[in-house]
Amino acid sequence: KRIAEIAREAEGRSTVSAKAETDLAKVAKERGIKYFLISYVDLFGGLRAKLVPAAAIAGMQKEGAGFAGFATWLDMSPADPDLFAVPDPTSLIQLPWKEEIGWLAADLIMDGKEVAQGPRTVLKKQLAEAASLGYVMKTGVECEYFLTTADGKSISDGADTAEKPCYDQSALMRRYDVIKDICDAMLKLGWGAYQNDHEDANGQFEMNWNYDHALLTADRHVFFKYMVKSIAEQHGLRATFMPKPFINLTGSGCHAHVSLWQKGKNAFSDPTGELGVSKLGYNFIGGLIHNADALCALTNPTVNSYKRINAPRTISGATWAPNTVTYTGNNRTHMIRIPDAGRFEFRLADGAANPYLLQAGLLAAGLDGIKNERDPGKRLDINMYTDGHKVKGAKRLPLNMLDALRALDKSKVLRDSLGAPLVDGYLKLKNEEWNAYSRHLTQWERDNTLDI
Ligand code: ADP
Ligand code: MG
Ligand code: MG
Ligand code: MG
Ligand code: MG
Repeated sequence: KRIAEIAREAEGRSTVSAKAETDLAKVAKERGIKYFLISYVDLFGGLRAKLVPAAAIAGMQKEGAGFAGFATWLDMSPADPDLFAVPDPTSLIQLPWKEEIGWLAADLIMDGKEVAQGPRTVLKKQLAEAASLGYVMKTGVECEYFLTTADGKSISDGADTAEKPCYDQSALMRRYDVIKDICDAMLKLGWGAYQNDHEDANGQFEMNWNYDHALLTADRHVFFKYMVKSIAEQHGLRATFMPKPFINLTGSGCHAHVSLWQKGKNAFSDPTGELGVSKLGYNFIGGLIHNADALCALTNPTVNSYKRINAPRTISGATWAPNTVTYTGNNRTHMIRIPDAGRFEFRLADGAANPYLLQAGLLAAGLDGIKNERDPGKRLDINMYTDGHKVKGAKRLPLNMLDALRALDKSKVLRDSLGAPLVDGYLKLKNEEWNAYSRHLTQWERDNTLDI
């Protein structure tokens, strides 16, 4: 069976209903779509697309839109044949602010074969693996972002200066026009948007919608970032998901809430388990704890990511980001928090994470935990920021991107599950990025070395 079919079944979308919607040319006529964006996400999370007129969609739906893979971050060669992005018709989203355009997530094909390192394909393979064990992963993501001036140099609201700006009503409402446009769009799309707030950093916001099947959440995560940036631009602003754009302010996380489902029931839920979480749930957490340092290379993928974790206290009093590989109950100072029965929150990931690799990495680590019945150890109920030093043996998170890349390179679990093409391709490109960064001369070096 093709991966797409298995994933779709695991998703609970029947192949029949997927087929009924399959004729995109017909859908275009019915819904007044003039253009389609056939898009894919590369290894670095960049969103790439071709804008295709509805008149040409029938052929593109079959063959895919053509790209030169080397021109994006996919670990390909300029000598490679055409890369084809074949749209998944079930992913169709009409841009709420311009309904004549239909956005489509695509899967990557080359030489008639699925591209093994295509991030969406990698996630689908993990979901198929989970499905073969009888599980469906459902997730919700909290994508924090900053609204800045158009040049990206400072936050957009000069009056947003409070030391503890979290939930600040006035600062939130001064950006009502932007927030409302984004939330209205999510409501129109039926995502189950339920709250919007000003976050812990000046200029920072978060908007929440309901969790769903991990592939659907990943597609929505991709679209959300595009939508927030587009709508901010319409208001003369810029939106950034960069993990730590302002050094003294709290960074932008991308917490992921996770549960596994079996035959329509939440398999992480167990009223008799500690905090209402089942043994399966704890084994999944055990997998995340076991593989955290390698996973970090995917969930915290940039040089800048490491200025958000392991960071000194921010002006607000806390970074709200983890420093250690630990888990807890309803306490926001650890890598994993169990806020409620039947799910946990992975607080490590940040705004730069590739939406597909984030979910794929979480699932790969979690399935490793389940298959090997990994024990997460005892839950820590302390304030990790103030009392972390009292805990013996709490593992630290990688201190920089290079440490994380080395951990990924050593991880048999992630290479075996995500595949060598993904892991080796990713490491190759990311190591080149690290080297480019290392060659960069910083002001810090001049300040501290000039007079040596
Ligand atoms: P917090 O800020 O407390 O971490 P939010 O309300 O901002 O929480 O985000 C919670 C996310 O968790 C939402 O996307 C929500 O739909 C999701 N969620 C709730 N229950 C589950 C569950 N059982 N499985 C996966 N995700 C869940
Ligand atoms: Mg050309
Ligand atoms: Mg939240
Ligand atoms: Mg938040
Ligand atoms: Mg959270």
